[in-house]
Amino acid sequence: MIRTFADLELDQNLLEAIEEMGFDRPTQIQAEAIPQALDGKDILASAPTGTGKTAAFVIPALQYLQDFPRKKAGPARVLILTPTRELAMQVADQARALAKNTKLNIFTITGGVQYQEHAGILATTQDIVVATPGRLMEYIEAERFDCRAIEWLILDEADRMLDMGFGPTVDRLSAECRWRKQTLLFSATLEGRGVEGFTADLLKEPAEIDAEPSRRERKKITQWYHRADDMEHKLALLKVIITEQAERSIIFLKTRERLADLRVELEKAQIPCGWIQGEMPQDRRNNAIARFRDGSVNVLLATDVAARGIDLPDVSHVINFDMPRTADVYLHRIGRTARAGKKGNALSLVEAHDQPMLDRVARYTKEDIKERFIKELRPKHKKPVFKKKNKKKDDKKKTAVKGKKKTAKKKK
Ligand code: ADP
Ligand code: MG
Repeated sequence: MIRTFADLELDQNLLEAIEEMGFDRPTQIQAEAIPQALDGKDILASAPTGTGKTAAFVIPALQYLQDFPRKKAGPARVLILTPTRELAMQVADQARALAKNTKLNIFTITGGVQYQEHAGILATTQDIVVATPGRLMEYIEAERFDCRAIEWLILDEADRMLDMGFGPTVDRLSAECRWRKQTLLFSATLEGRGVEGFTADLLKEPAEIDAEPSRRERKKITQWYHRADDMEHKLALLKVIITEQAERSIIFLKTRERLADLRVELEKAQIPCGWIQGEMPQDRRNNAIARFRDGSVNVLLATDVAARGIDLPDVSHVINFDMPRTADVYLHRIGRTARAGKKGNALSLVEAHDQPMLDRVARYTKEDIKERFIKELRPKHKKPVFKKKNKKKDDKKKTAVKGKKKTAKKKK
């Protein structure tokens, strides 16, 4: 039974780095994945967002590189693939922090960076490379990156990579890394379309780990919603929430256009905010994230594309200014709060037409999402009733009018 990091038989330098990061004990996924990975097994692991999957693969990779030190300078031995460049940088940052007492070299290769900047990296010895699939494939095709020395291939957020259409590229990268010893795949869920077939080709008799987070890790997210009559009302609600209730919030919007509109409104109201959206120059995205991370701004606007997989610490409130397209996206969004056992809040601003999506989310997450009001900003419209199976409901209504007592009982 693994209770502490010391139980994992890691080198002292790693244990010290872990302690400095403030990790007291391994999370469930770490306790299960690290020993198996160090045993030489392939891993197929799923655990909810925010449960420490990064360290679950970085720690054994670092231990492995120390157990089997390289004999001469050369190309990367561990390749970590992530769906987005932000995530690649976060994973690399965490790997560097954990490797701080070693001489191991950790690099990122992602889009949005000039080849010249990568050229230097590629000429030196690399131990771990964290990369996004598209850019890495380009380098391989141009014979600028050599996969033959890769011993461990690690896929982070495999579900997202598939969602983003990276499946075929990852398959090709897997073929390029065919001399590897081990493959580790991590995902928030393994239920998405195609994950099964995908993993079957990549992994050899993997240890399957489905880490139910312990109660300590389980998220404490309070969820609620406010009804809004229209855009103006929504905006008024939002301003009160971010200025009077929330300490640090991420606000999710459907599109870049809507994000731009909201930005203008917040500027008018003199509420400082940062924003990230897809197709934004790398340095500007980094900048926005850094400003949010260091607390220069406490409000971050984001579209779903931009926010994938980013670990933004200490978010008190996730705000769905626009409802997401699916219940699954809702779960990913609210996973930004209550990380690593902290408490969090997730709220949605819903107009009449959003009500069906809210109901769907409540069914999907099996959560009771309650309505809340802000005193001076109560909605004027009545809560809309959407008829699902028209006929039955209408019948019920009729009986409800005729004999109230009967249906009141039935409802329970
Ligand atoms: P996931 O990839 O599962 O979504 P992350 O690896 O991004 O989760 O970790 C989420 C947060 O939890 C990070 O801020 C990380 O530093 C922190 N964390 C990871 N492992 C531990 C641990 N054992 N104890 C405390 N905090 C941890
Ligand atoms: Mg992660």
